[in-house]
Amino acid sequence: MPSDPTEKSPLNRSMIERTLASVWHPCTQMKTHETFPPLPVARGEGAWLIDADGHRYLDGISSWWVNLFGHCNPTINGALRDQVDRLEHVILAGFTHEPVVALSERLAALTDNSLGHCFFASDGSSAVEIALKMSMHYWRNCGQPDKTRFVTVSGGYHGETLGALSVSDVALFRDAYAPLLTESSTVPSPDWREANQGETAADCAARAARALEQHLDAHAAQTAAVIVEPLVQCANRMAMHDAEYLRLVRAACDRHQVHMIADEIAVGFGRTGTFFAHQGAGITPDLMTLSKGITGGYLPLSVVLCRDHIYEAFYADELTRGFLHSHSYTGNALACSAALAVLEIFEQDNVLTANRKRARKILEAAQVFNDHPQVCHLRQTGMITAFDVDIDDPSFSRRYHFAALEQGVLLRPIGNTVYFMPPYVLSDHEIDHLVTGAQRALLNTVA
Ligand SMILES: *Cc1c(COP(=O)(O)O)cnc(C)c1O
Repeated sequence: MPSDPTEKSPLNRSMIERTLASVWHPCTQMKTHETFPPLPVARGEGAWLIDADGHRYLDGISSWWVNLFGHCNPTINGALRDQVDRLEHVILAGFTHEPVVALSERLAALTDNSLGHCFFASDGSSAVEIALKMSMHYWRNCGQPDKTRFVTVSGGYHGETLGALSVSDVALFRDAYAPLLTESSTVPSPDWREANQGETAADCAARAARALEQHLDAHAAQTAAVIVEPLVQCANRMAMHDAEYLRLVRAACDRHQVHMIADEIAVGFGRTGTFFAHQGAGITPDLMTLSKGITGGYLPLSVVLCRDHIYEAFYADELTRGFLHSHSYTGNALACSAALAVLEIFEQDNVLTANRKRARKILEAAQVFNDHPQVCHLRQTGMITAFDVDIDDPSFSRRYHFAALEQGVLLRPIGNTVYFMPPYVLSDHEIDHLVTGAQRALLNTVA
């Protein structure tokens, strides 16, 4: 194995030239690639990404939070091979097929059938748009056409299409497109890092919930739904909150006749410890969005689950009372079969139990960061572990990212927050590699 991953072979160099000449990369000022080129990945193997020169990088962020059971997972590969020879895709309007039915049944069962119907799309943002439209249309079908507004939590992230961005609160992503967005109301985040002196995480959650309650006292008649990211606002620098917040939001929504939308696109599928994150608070939302981990990081698929009474409010003779929304690839058979394989692995390998041990190991190993004078707020919820670095340097995130790659670890801090969100396959040895690499990267980044 070559020793210096920054030394690129001619093969890697030519790939970088071709991508920069033809691909417009996401979430990127392309000019920075003049100095910091993208990394060409030739193949994946378990938790590892491997470049054309054979350098190996442990995928500490699950390839943008989507991968659950490693790259090139044999079970998912097998399920896709079986499906591709039977049926790759069929229009879902007026047609149905086994993978989409089986997946809907199993997802509903995982909510104890409290969310009984599944509406499919292809990406997370579209699922958020569907949940917003469904909520508003529900109230109109129920004779409450004024309930058209949405409440979102400070720092919340729900995607970047126009409707999803309208309920997101990330200035960097919003500001340039503000003229295209509709207005929503933002209430304070329960992020426990913002607890006042003497406040517990639960106090902080209660304070944030009171602000929501006050907002709804005044505006419930115009409000269709509150959208929350249960337990962890991932894009908000892994802001974690006490589960009490979700119980209080649930109660406030019930009192005010407002839907609670749980956006579990990042936190569903075991990421926070329970299968769905809201289950950690013992509540049920009215609508839930899922994507990212749903296919184990293989294929684009998203879904909105809703309570039966919401579904029933659309069930009528008139077309216009029906839910009017469609995507070309909705319910794609290949994506659904990958998702079914993912559910199979959860069951067969007892993944949630194994992850509890894995998470404990990660947190134990991560205690080394507490010895660093510039590190604070080491925290963990399930398979998400994060800490903040006290450094006044806008280039920290990028410098850290490259320092970690040199250690054979893929990490991508959000601002000053370094986080681990690995696939659910890490061995003890791989946990050591992840944490040791992250620690060396920190020493090499923070002078
Ligand atoms: C990633 C994400 C989205 C958007 O999903 P895309 O597939 O990227 O459109 C929405 N909500 C949350 C919480 C997310 O993490």
